[in-house]
Amino acid sequence: MEFQDQQVSKGSSHISKKKIFLKDEFMIENMQYNMAFEYKLRELEKETKISEFKRSELLNEYKNKYKKYRDNWYNINNLIAEKNSFFKPLSLDIETASICDLACPHCFREYIVTPDKIMKEELYLKIMKEVKDLEIPSIKLNWRGEPLLNPLLEKFIKIAKQNGVLDVSINTNATTLNEAKSIKILNSGLDQIIFSFDGGTKKTYEKMRPGRFKNNQFEKIYENIKNFCLLKKKYNKVFPITKIQMVMTKSSRNEVKDFFDLFSEFIDDVVITQYQERGGKMDDLLDEQKEKLNNYKKRNNIKDLNHYIAKVNGDILVSEDRKSCDQIYQRLMVTYNGHVGMCCHDWGAKHCIGYLDEEGIKSYDKDLTQVFNSTKSNKKGFELLKNVKMPEKLNTPDRKISTLKEIWHGKELKKVRDMHLQKKINNIEICKNCSYKESYHWKKI
Ligand code: SF4
Ligand code: SF4
Repeated sequence: MEFQDQQVSKGSSHISKKKIFLKDEFMIENMQYNMAFEYKLRELEKETKISEFKRSELLNEYKNKYKKYRDNWYNINNLIAEKNSFFKPLSLDIETASICDLACPHCFREYIVTPDKIMKEELYLKIMKEVKDLEIPSIKLNWRGEPLLNPLLEKFIKIAKQNGVLDVSINTNATTLNEAKSIKILNSGLDQIIFSFDGGTKKTYEKMRPGRFKNNQFEKIYENIKNFCLLKKKYNKVFPITKIQMVMTKSSRNEVKDFFDLFSEFIDDVVITQYQERGGKMDDLLDEQKEKLNNYKKRNNIKDLNHYIAKVNGDILVSEDRKSCDQIYQRLMVTYNGHVGMCCHDWGAKHCIGYLDEEGIKSYDKDLTQVFNSTKSNKKGFELLKNVKMPEKLNTPDRKISTLKEIWHGKELKKVRDMHLQKKINNIEICKNCSYKESYHWKKI
């Protein structure tokens, strides 16, 4: 097996026996099958017949847009330099569902109250209008929940592609991905589906991914994922790209080969990702890795060294120093009710930077309290959430409705960006203990 670091997500690796799957290359090579391109072509053809030459010009334009978006994503210095009228979010994470039907012990949802809600179509359409105007190139249709639980998901994907979004993806636990839903998703125009599946054996998987409302079974989810991939083949679909990822904890670290063997035959990209602390305080190191880290601490007289990366090839990296975070130049997060956050590591949406909708101001606390009370009264489906706490409010922006553009260029994000540039990242409460590995300098020990 070969391992290769992912371009983003420090310490996480692609695994392959053949050629490592490279998403950017694939997206560019297959741009003619991208539904954003296809819809644009159809729109132009309504007015006049498009020649082969015009078509290939348009195709190149779409390929270049995608290249530029990825180039900016990897080089935040370009973005900082371009902090002018062009400067806009490269990606939006839209929480189409904040509810989830699993209760994974390594998920922040088990420690911070998260509302059990789905996004309404009205708000989604409002967001899409701005996505189109700003030409935002990428969206992920989930954040803190399971997107397939929103019955409108397939429609939402289609709308995003019709509005020109080049890269639309979802992360899913695949619990409800039956054949009918698979066919809908395959026909929606989705560009990438990322399955989360922790473990290479039934025992580990079921320990890491327990059901909230009923037992979650290894065999069923494995079949759902496999069938989805077989249907993709049967219908000759180029998209969505299929990717599967496993979080490395102590129990799954020795199951990398089993995990790879389960999926490598039919999935485009198999990935192992680092455990990130989300409240579960899980053991993620093997005994020999722990020993190596402890010896390093002793030698260097370091008491607290909470930030490390244990790569799949056995390397250990440590960090004692932060760096400016790229997410504040890349993306915005929108909760199910239009409450806007600045990064995917603000699990409890604690550091709000603005509101897109009245509901985000009015109903958020009520929705949180409803879940919190259900956990305290041990209501069915809430038993595994008994350790949750209400999220603190770390930032309270003006209580007014803004546009995405206003929020992106507004004073709340400016405050954070300035602090990061002045190397005062730890002065921002939400950033202080953040486990986002790209916001640290790393060295191998
Ligand atoms: S499936 Fe995802 S969102 Fe749901 S509990 Fe597990 S890790 Fe969290
Ligand atoms: S350092 Fe962490 S909390 Fe702060 S902006 Fe980056 S990802 Fe978010």
